[in-house]
Amino acid sequence: MPDTDPSARHRRQTLYTDRLVTPGITRAAVAALRRFLATPGRYLYMRRDYCACTRCDLECNPAAARDVLEGMLPLLPHYARRDLESLLAELDGELLHRTLPDVFAHREPWRRGAWWHERLYDTDDLL
Ligand SMILES: [Zn+2]
Repeated sequence: MPDTDPSARHRRQTLYTDRLVTPGITRAAVAALRRFLATPGRYLYMRRDYCACTRCDLECNPAAARDVLEGMLPLLPHYARRDLESLLAELDGELLHRTLPDVFAHREPWRRGAWWHERLYDTDDLL
């Protein structure tokens, strides 16, 4: 049966949005970023989680947490968006200051886009 029902299409889009907007996800993403930035040392290396589930990725991967927060911005009412933007300016400044650029990031398609995907990763866990 061809999918010509606009409300069915909307329900699918809403489902996608519902998956992103789960209760407490903004708080969890901010906490994950703060935990990463609280790691001692002058420079930090981005981390990935190989479990591939959204929850582990959000907890372990600061870029995934930053993606969640970026995705939340357009969904928030004006005042809340300004609060989050202000917090992100602070967290982004520290993330940028404490991580290093990866000049080869553009070679991997999944790392194109936002600047936080183009920082050096800790690859020790791959050895
Ligand atoms: Zn997992």
